[in-house]
Amino acid sequence: MKALVKTQKGVGFIEVREAPEPVPGPGEVKIKIAACGVCGTDVHVWHDTFPYWPPVILGHEFTGTVVDLGHDCKYYKPGDRVVAEPHTKACGVCHLCRTGNIQICPEKRSPGWGIDGGMAEYICYPERLLHRIPDGMSWDQAAVVEPTANVVTDMIERTGILAGDFIVILGPGPIGLLAAMVARAAGARDVVIIGTPGDEALRLKKARELGFNKTINIAQTDPIKAVLDMTGGIGADIVVECSGAPKAIPVTVDLVRKRGKICVIGLTGNRNVEVPWDKFAFKVVDVIFNLSTCYTSWDRTIHLIHSGAVPAEKVITHREPLENWGKVFDDIENLKALKALLIP
Ligand SMILES: [Zn+2]
Ligand SMILES: [Zn+2]
Repeated sequence: MKALVKTQKGVGFIEVREAPEPVPGPGEVKIKIAACGVCGTDVHVWHDTFPYWPPVILGHEFTGTVVDLGHDCKYYKPGDRVVAEPHTKACGVCHLCRTGNIQICPEKRSPGWGIDGGMAEYICYPERLLHRIPDGMSWDQAAVVEPTANVVTDMIERTGILAGDFIVILGPGPIGLLAAMVARAAGARDVVIIGTPGDEALRLKKARELGFNKTINIAQTDPIKAVLDMTGGIGADIVVECSGAPKAIPVTVDLVRKRGKICVIGLTGNRNVEVPWDKFAFKVVDVIFNLSTCYTSWDRTIHLIHSGAVPAEKVITHREPLENWGKVFDDIENLKALKALLIP
């Protein structure tokens, strides 16, 4: 079968290769891949800035149809359309696994970097990590369940957004835009999306197309003054940090209200961040850090997307065959793509 493979350690070393078709082991199903989203993780593996075990097939945001079963499969059958939690190799016995946090088990090695992923014609996958998708759900919708489930975990399950909340989002990339949609679905009274001049042409424009009219380009408008004006001088109930930018992160505390919450989603790529610590203390804010997806967020996300409450598929800008991965990765880096799908 065809597969997009990181062939060895180092910067680069990605190619489309012929790979052996996988055979399902006990408890595994074989899935014919319909689409696989490109995530920042895949780009980091390309640049050698994320751990990985080569040679490895890229991609963890995949969806497809079950075509075969290994021994001892109980819950799925050929023809089922599925999406998959990327929590493979979690040990099942450590403190985190036993407390329901397999997504941050130290043994976890996800598809796309730890084990072979979904940028291929087929993948074999443990059925305990699958979720069925409804008949009427499109492959586009299914392919964006994983990134959306991240935002649902972070904002709904962990930060506890409430109907009527005033939300500010920093960083209008795919995750920031998904965060805005989830905030709206959760009943936010207003969602302000803040970006840089580089975000104007595609990302902030897309935000407005999605109906978020309160976009702020920091080169044109002072975001702190604007948010205080919009909230009667109080500040936002929740600030969602999706930029990972060391310059933006300290501003979160100026945007949030006293006793408000800062939901941290973006990563800096190991850059240090200087923050006005005492300001956080005097504002008595809750800062909620996040990583990966909780089991419970998946079916919630599938329903939100399928019902149209979160039209997550609207962040898709590219659908390309595996062979065009180079252009797709370039476009992502140059802010010319939001979410890209590779179709094997
Ligand atoms: Zn991802
Ligand atoms: Zn574990």
